[in-house]
Amino acid sequence: MTVRLDYTNAYLTAVTGIVRQVTSVDDRPALMLDQSCFYPTSGGQPHDTGKLAGQRVIDVRVDDDGHVLHMLDALPASLEPGTTVTGEIDWPRRYDHMQQHSGQHLLSAVFADRLGAETVSVHFGQEISAVELDTPRLTSEEIAQAEQAVNERIWENRPIRVYMVSDAEAAELPLRRAPAVTGQIRIVEIEQLDYSACGGTHVRRTGEIGLVKLVGVENIRGRVRVSFFCGRRALNDYVRKSRLAAEIGALFSTDAEEAPALITRLQGENKQLQRDLAAAGERLAAQEAAALYAQAPRINTASGTESGTEGSTEGGSVKMVAHLLDSTPPAGLTALARQLQALPGVVALLAGVYQEKVTAIFARSDDVTLDAGALLRRSLQEFGGGGGGRPDFAQGGGVAADDAAALIAFAREQAEKELSQP
Ligand SMILES: [Zn+2]
Repeated sequence: MTVRLDYTNAYLTAVTGIVRQVTSVDDRPALMLDQSCFYPTSGGQPHDTGKLAGQRVIDVRVDDDGHVLHMLDALPASLEPGTTVTGEIDWPRRYDHMQQHSGQHLLSAVFADRLGAETVSVHFGQEISAVELDTPRLTSEEIAQAEQAVNERIWENRPIRVYMVSDAEAAELPLRRAPAVTGQIRIVEIEQLDYSACGGTHVRRTGEIGLVKLVGVENIRGRVRVSFFCGRRALNDYVRKSRLAAEIGALFSTDAEEAPALITRLQGENKQLQRDLAAAGERLAAQEAAALYAQAPRINTASGTESGTEGSTEGGSVKMVAHLLDSTPPAGLTALARQLQALPGVVALLAGVYQEKVTAIFARSDDVTLDAGALLRRSLQEFGGGGGGRPDFAQGGGVAADDAAALIAFAREQAEKELSQP
C-alpha cells in the first residue's frame, strides 16, 4: 500500500517518490508510487490534481489495498518501476477542498448539537457543497441560528487535530457515527467539539475555514438538504451578490435596499398600465372597425342576409373587409375582428404582421353564411401555414410576411366565389 503523506500533513504540497508500478486505468496511464501526498477521491472529498513526472495529474484513485493511482494525461517516455519522480499538487484546489471539508465537519456538529439534526450524507461539488440532515424540516430561524453558531466556532479559532486510535480507544470517543473501518482509525477532532472518523484533509484551525454561508435549504425524501459555501467560495459568493445588488440598485437609481419596495410599486403600476392599454386598445379597435366597415365594398351574395339585403328579392350582400395591418400585435387584431364581427353582414379577412410574424384572423357576422374556419385552413395551407377555429371565428399563422398580402387576396377571392354560389 502507498504511504499516505496527506494523512499526516495536509499542508505538504510536493512529493518525491519511487515508481512501484506503471499501469493504466480507464485507458489512461497511471502511476503507483511508494508514497504520495496526492489525495484520492474518497469519503466524499474530491481528488487532487497537479503535476507528476512532468505530466498533468487528471484523477487520483485508491484501490481496495490502499494503493494510490495517479492518472496522467500522457505517459512520460521511458518510465520504469524503480525510477524516482517528483510531483506537486494544485494547492489552491486542495486548500479549497480543505476549507469545505473542515467547514462541513463544524456545520454537521452544530446541526447535531443545537438542533438534534444528524448528518446522513455529505456532498462536495465543484461549485457547491451540501449536507443532508436527518430531520423532516428546519425553520428559517433555525437555519439562521446554525449559521451564526458555526461562524462563532470559526472565530474561536479552535485547533483541528488529526490522530490515529485503536478500536478500543475509538469506542471511548463521542464519535458522530460508527467508524466504517476497524483496526487503526483516523480521528479528526475539532477541539472538544467534534470527533469524527475521517480520512480527509483538514485545515489546522477553525479560523482557516474563514466563513460558512448557508445558501440553500431543500426538503427532500423527508430530510433537509442544506447547501453551503466555505472560505474563498463564500467570499466569491459575497463578491458576486454585492455586484448583483449594486447592478439592481443602479437600474433603479437607488440603494439596493430600496429596490424591493420600488419593484413592488412598479409591478403595481405596470398592471394598471396594462389595464389602461387594453381599454384604449378596445376603443381604438372600435374606431378602426367603423372606418374599415365604411370603406369596405359591398359584395352581392346568392343567399340573402338579414341586414345585408338591399332592394334585392332573392340575393343579398355582405361588407367584405379584407385588410392587411402592419405592426399590429395579435391581441389588437383579435379585438378588431371581434368589433367587425359584431356589426351586421360582415366578412372580415384580416392579417397582421408583428415582429416578422403573420397572424391571420377570419371572422364573420352571425347573419352571414360562410365557414370562416374552413376558409382560413384552406387559405393558410395554400401559403404553407396553418390554423383553425369555428365557422364564425378562426385564427392561424405560419406564412411568410411577404406572402401576407397575397394570402388576403386569395382568401377574398375564395370567399366571394363561395358567397356568389347559390
Ligand atoms: Zn470528513
